[in-house]
Amino acid sequence: MQNSKKAFKEALKYIPGGVNSPVRAFKSVGTNPLFIDSGKGAYIKDIDGNSYIDYVQSWGPLLFGHCDEDIMKACKKALKKGSSFGAPTLLETKLAKAILKEFKHIDKIRFVSSGTEATMSAIRLARGYTKRDKILKFDGCYHGHSDSLLVSAGSGAATFNTPSSLGVLEDVAKNTLVATYNDIKSVEALFDKHKDIACVIIEPIAGNMGLVPAKQEFLEKLQALCKKNGTVLIFDEVMSGFRASFHGSFGINGIEADIITFGKVIGGGLPAAAFGAKDEIMSILSPLGGVYQAGTLSGNPLAMAAGLASIKKAKKDKNLYKNLGKLAYRLSSGLKEAANAANIALQTCCVGSMFGFFFNENEVNNYQDARKSNLQHFASFHKAMLKRGIYLACSQFEVGFICAKMNEKMIDTTINAAFESMKEL
Ligand SMILES: *Cc1c(COP(=O)(O)O)cnc(C)c1O
Repeated sequence: MQNSKKAFKEALKYIPGGVNSPVRAFKSVGTNPLFIDSGKGAYIKDIDGNSYIDYVQSWGPLLFGHCDEDIMKACKKALKKGSSFGAPTLLETKLAKAILKEFKHIDKIRFVSSGTEATMSAIRLARGYTKRDKILKFDGCYHGHSDSLLVSAGSGAATFNTPSSLGVLEDVAKNTLVATYNDIKSVEALFDKHKDIACVIIEPIAGNMGLVPAKQEFLEKLQALCKKNGTVLIFDEVMSGFRASFHGSFGINGIEADIITFGKVIGGGLPAAAFGAKDEIMSILSPLGGVYQAGTLSGNPLAMAAGLASIKKAKKDKNLYKNLGKLAYRLSSGLKEAANAANIALQTCCVGSMFGFFFNENEVNNYQDARKSNLQHFASFHKAMLKRGIYLACSQFEVGFICAKMNEKMIDTTINAAFESMKEL
């Protein structure tokens, strides 16, 4: 890893922390990040020439792995015509149609370039629509880095929130209420106290505190509470959309949110995200209505082409998600066995092509539970797996992704590595 080490030292001189997104710094596992040279299918290669099975897959977007032929072909075709116009192109309508066809409960969709923009805009839209100020989120859910959303539950009283970043105003944080995931009582308490909640935003399958799916009953009650209070329900499916199932969380729990945000897979590895809702809500968005939202590169033709190719390909393969799910289950079960063999407490979970594991004695239902995990064990495990050619997300609070280029043999290689690694903890 000498070249990566050198490259990181050089990057540190010019880029804060040497990275352009903090999780890439490998800080929580206490090592240097790998610099990646290239990827092909399930594998990535670092600049020292080491090869790894990649369970990060760019943090979710690459449903078909690196350099998928169909996605590359679509991108090349689009690139030849020009990379950006700042004017409408046919590809935008095509991708909009392809997505809306799958979600009958949303009528219109607006494309942006990142998940952060999608959730930020969805919240502005919900506030404009309800003419209310407050928003409610869940501790441990991540919705990008806009000010209103960088708020976490303060210690002590559940209604006391604190900015989770310097530079976020207390004044902004005070309008963000924070509840406990999978705990409907914590939500009811906030609705009892606050009559002016514009929206509830939630990852219906949380993937940013490790993998923690919301319970069906919890989501149903949450939706009922929103309906009763005239509050907009936003499902943030930036990660789970076209990942947990073809129809994201909707394909699993059938719950119709008022606004859905997408990202990651819908850009096929290029920067695209979106938010969609019924006409009644979307019609107040500019240029039709008074909620402003814009973007120079929104609906970028390369990103639309990559996203469209991904979604078409996913739609065509009727067994895709079943197969991804089988591999995810095989891996989770194997990790669990490896932990058992080494007498290490491990909780495992998988939903569609997403998998997660916690070094934890108990079942994890929310962020408080997740935080009780053994982070030392995670860091050692991560390092031990990396040494054996397995590239996992570098934090206990992230998930892993199966891509369509993976097979049972790769999974079994990974499980064998886990057996050896667990013994080293
Ligand atoms: C990744 C993610 C975001 C943020 O998307 P970016 O493209 O990184 O801005 C928002 N919400 C969820 C659930 C995510 O997983």
